[in-house]
Amino acid sequence: MTTPMVEARGVRKSYAGVEVLKSVDLTVTRGEVTCLIGPSGSGKSTLLRCINHLEKHDSGELRVDGQLIGYEARDGKLYELNDKQICGERAQIGMVFQRFNLFQHLTALENITIGQVKVKGVDVEVAKAKARELLSRVGLENKEKHYPSQLSGGQQQRVAIARALAMEPKLMLFDEPTSALDPELVGEVLDVMKDLARSGMTMIVVTHEMNFAREVANTLYFLDGGVIEESGDPRVVLTSPKTERLRSFLSKVL
Ligand code: ADP
Ligand code: MG
Repeated sequence: MTTPMVEARGVRKSYAGVEVLKSVDLTVTRGEVTCLIGPSGSGKSTLLRCINHLEKHDSGELRVDGQLIGYEARDGKLYELNDKQICGERAQIGMVFQRFNLFQHLTALENITIGQVKVKGVDVEVAKAKARELLSRVGLENKEKHYPSQLSGGQQQRVAIARALAMEPKLMLFDEPTSALDPELVGEVLDVMKDLARSGMTMIVVTHEMNFAREVANTLYFLDGGVIEESGDPRVVLTSPKTERLRSFLSKVL
């Protein structure tokens, strides 16, 4: 059996004494798409941020690619990683946020080039070639000289995805990537994500797009109040919810 890409066991996280993740268990198999749904404030972003080392969980075990997050095991003991090591681990995980978070003063091409050069030490020309390839992959080959302000929200989000892919991540996290978009621009971003899923990328997607979840996800998790209330095949979970909480949530979003 191969190691899962992400494995959470009893993960807990509190802010100022309020527990927002209450013993979360989650397994993400390599090459699979996991969708995370749940009401606002249920802990979805916090879980992604813990997986991406942006937040430290308080207890429980969280592993990415078999490695304990934030710690390293040597001679049977756990040692906290230093900042440099944490950055190294984080560079292997791509993250796309609701707001596109592009560098406003850089062109689309430069946005995709900069991390490769600064973080990975890739040669500038090599980085540019790769950026052009990725722009074409997300359908924006003619936009390389455009600044974010000259692009639509959907185009900016596709640049953000290309920028994350440029780092050659082994895992991609999406936190409501289409929630800030005008409805007519949602499809173009979901199409890029579907294409990425087909290419075998391991992905965790927080989304309210239930059709995407049903069509693309291998596994769906429903988080409510920091607890995984239901999980499984999205076609089963969405069609026959077992809990009143999920039924009530679905009646609001569908
Ligand atoms: P979701 O993404 O599902 O909407 P979040 O993970 O953002 O939920 O938030 C879960 C809970 O944790 C919310 O009650 C939120 O107010 C709280 N929270 C999130 N981040 C912080 C923080 N940095 N400090 C204090 N509370 C936070
Ligand atoms: Mg959130």
